[in-house]
Formats: sequence, C-alpha cells, structure tokens
Amino acid sequence: TPLIAGVPPARIAALAEWEAATYAAARPKCRAALASGAGAWLDGVPMHWMRDWPQPFPLVVARASGAQIEDLDGHVLDDFCLGDTGAMFGHSPAPVAKAIRRQARRGLTTMLPGMDALAVGALLQERFGPMLWQIATTATDANRFALRVARAVTGRRKVLVFSGCYHGTVDEAMVQLAGGQTVPRPGLVGQAADLTQTAVAVEFNDLTALEEALKAGDVAAVLAEPVMTNACMVLPDPGFHQALRRLASDYGALLILDETHTQSSGLGGYTRRHGLQPDMLVVGKCIAGGIPAAAWGMTAEVAARLHSYHQTRPAGHSGMGTTLSANPMQFAALRATLAEVMTPKAFARMEEGAAKLEAGLARAVARHGAPWHVVRVGARVEFICHPVPLRNGTEAAAAHHPALEAAVHAALLNRGCLIAPFHNMMLVSPVTSSKQIARLIAAFEAVLAELFA
Ligand code: PMP
Repeated sequence: TPLIAGVPPARIAALAEWEAATYAAARPKCRAALASGAGAWLDGVPMHWMRDWPQPFPLVVARASGAQIEDLDGHVLDDFCLGDTGAMFGHSPAPVAKAIRRQARRGLTTMLPGMDALAVGALLQERFGPMLWQIATTATDANRFALRVARAVTGRRKVLVFSGCYHGTVDEAMVQLAGGQTVPRPGLVGQAADLTQTAVAVEFNDLTALEEALKAGDVAAVLAEPVMTNACMVLPDPGFHQALRRLASDYGALLILDETHTQSSGLGGYTRRHGLQPDMLVVGKCIAGGIPAAAWGMTAEVAARLHSYHQTRPAGHSGMGTTLSANPMQFAALRATLAEVMTPKAFARMEEGAAKLEAGLARAVARHGAPWHVVRVGARVEFICHPVPLRNGTEAAAAHHPALEAAVHAALLNRGCLIAPFHNMMLVSPVTSSKQIARLIAAFEAVLAELFA
C-alpha cells in the first residue's frame, strides 16, 4: 500500500485507535456528563463543528484561562487552538474580563452608541487604518455586508474568490475550482441558489487566471485573505499582492481583504505589516477578546460611492445589520482589547514564541526525515504533511490528509496539547509560555517518532 505523507496507513490506523482509547479511558467524567446532559442537542452538541474534533466524544470544558483549557476530568491542556483565533490573545484577558464586569450592570444591548463606541471607532482607525468602519457580530456577517456594498457601488454581481478559501458561511462565496470550472463547494446543506451566478473562483497566485476572470467585467470585488489560511497555509508569491491591487483597480473591482485570521501577522494585520491597500478590510474573531464582534471598514472613496448609491435606491431594508450588533458589551470588550490587549508588545511576544515553535517543529520534521514542512504567518504556525510549500488551494487540498492529521491531533491532545481541529494550525498567544511551546515541540517530536519509527 502507498504511504500517506510518508506514513504507512496501518500505522496511522493503529495510532488513531490507541489514542482514541487512551482519550476515552482518561475521561470518565466528560463521558458521563455528555451521557446525561447532551440529549437535547442535535447530535449531542450545541453547534455541529464541536463534533469535528478527532476524539471519540468532545472534551467538556470546565474552564479556560490564559493559554490553557481544563476539562471536567481535571486534565489541563496547553491550548494552541485558542478557539480557532477567537481567543488569539488568550482566554479571558484581564482587561477584557474587567470591562465586561463593568459593563454588565450598565446595559447589554440598546441599538444606540455610547462613549465606548466612539472610542472604538478611533481605535479601529489607529490599529487597522484610516477606514470608515461598521460593526457586525461575526466575520461572516462582516464579509456579507462588505460584499453588498461592493455590489452596490460597482453595479456588478460577482465576487471573485480564490479556490480553497473560506470567508465564513457567506453563501455567495461558497465556490471552488474543479477541472478549471467554478463549481459550488461540495457539502453545502440545503443549497438553492446557483452560486456560479454570484461567484467565480481562480487559483491563488495565478495572475493570468485572475486577469482573465476580471476581464469579464462582472466582478464587483475580489474577496481574499492576504495569506490563505483555511486550506493548508498558502503564502502569496513575491509581488502577488501588488499585482492583485493593480488588476482589481484596472478592471474596476474592489479589493476586500479578510484579515480575520491573518491578524496574527502583527498589529494592523498583514495589510499594515506589508503596506497593502485594500478598498475594504474585514476583521473578526479575536478583536473583542472572545466576545462575538467583527468590524468592516471602507476607504473614504468607497464611502463616497456608497453615499451616491444611496441617493438612487428606494427606501427599504438594506440587507445589512443584525439587531444585537454594535451593542455596548461588544464595545466594552472591543475597547479593552484594542487599547490594552492587542498591543505591539503583545504581538512581539506572540511572534517570538511562534518563531521558536516553528523552529522546533521544523527541527523535528528534519530529524525524522518526514516529507513535511512548517510555515508561519506571525503568531500562526502550521505543519503541513507535504514536502514543499503550497502555491494554491488545489495543491493545498491535495496536501491535506484527514486520517493522518486526525491521528496526529489526537496524539498531541493525549500529550497535553490542543490544536485546531480543521487544520494543523497552532496559535501562540501573548500569554503562551516558553514551557508550553517546549511541551508542544516535545509532543510533536514524540508523535513523529511513532509515525516514522
Ligand atoms: N474569514 C476567515 C478568513 C475565516 O477564517 C473565518 C472563520 N474561520 C471567517 C471569516 C468567519 O468567521 P466567523 O465564523 O466568526 O463568522
């Protein structure tokens, strides 16, 4: 039988079986709690993603603080998943917890601004750039609203995305390439609309295909992560972003950069770090320290075009906004996060830790001769079970080995390290200690020793 990323399939299966049994044996309380309390939830979990972990049953979390999670059975895990970026600055950062306590008695939702809202506007400009901002509750919503604006001001209907992308459950962007054609992503539940009417997919780093697609003249916006992080991580070729900016402008499409994950690049995200010039910018997940909030901004030029558009539209619902968005609790948490948690010092610590993690994992890969490699974008590190860097989503999909990765994740968890379930990404928060990083490197090393013995 052929090897899977250098590993015999039988060895993967044996590891997975052993780790599942070990996990279950160590968690009688989690298992009992789920057996007695999970029956009201569809498939036993309140949100189906909670079943996407490789364990035989989910961890039941007793508490999470700093960069650790403790389960009901008393196992304390080093958390490198960090809520898949929602807790990128650590769980319950002290300034955020304090702000939440303070706001808790002063009103939770009002549909009106307060003083924190005014402060947050200025902080968003300071951190992410001189855009005109709006608040949403999830990055999914922020992307949907940004797309509406792009379609409104350009009078065009399509969004161009890179195959293998993920921008949240944004209906109109759920497409990918198959045999050179844009097709709906497989797996969508209850899909009715023909997504190829609203979206076109091209490969990341393929400027020829990008220009070809833009030439059609029906693309309202390119919606892109500066680095693809939702397949395996795919870095932009040198010059790719400059060309993307130029082509979008040449063909009259707006450029929306989704920095929901790539905020790990540093203060102001990849955009600021690399001097990119999007027309619109989306940030979400961690910007309020773990309280649901997202922000989307547009340049003054796009704002002016939107105001002109408003003159032409009939009265009625805009299709943007949700009732609890921009509530005072979000602003309390946003203000505390932006002012006191998301600081240059925090990013310096994250970057330093992540560089150590990257080096340690790469050393382990080399020592065991694994045909794998390691990439890093600021505080975000990923091991990829493929020998060379990936250039686009199709290559990334081919480099994804679910059974192998699930076994590795399960083995890491049993060695005290939690990493995100959907990919092989690890985040280093400002409160992740060197000891935690050393433990993850040692656990990874031990798992490789088993796989490549
Ligand atoms: N954009 C990107 C780049 C993401 O990775 C995600 C979620 N993984 C989203 C948007 C959507 O975020 P949310 O699920 O919080 O809406």
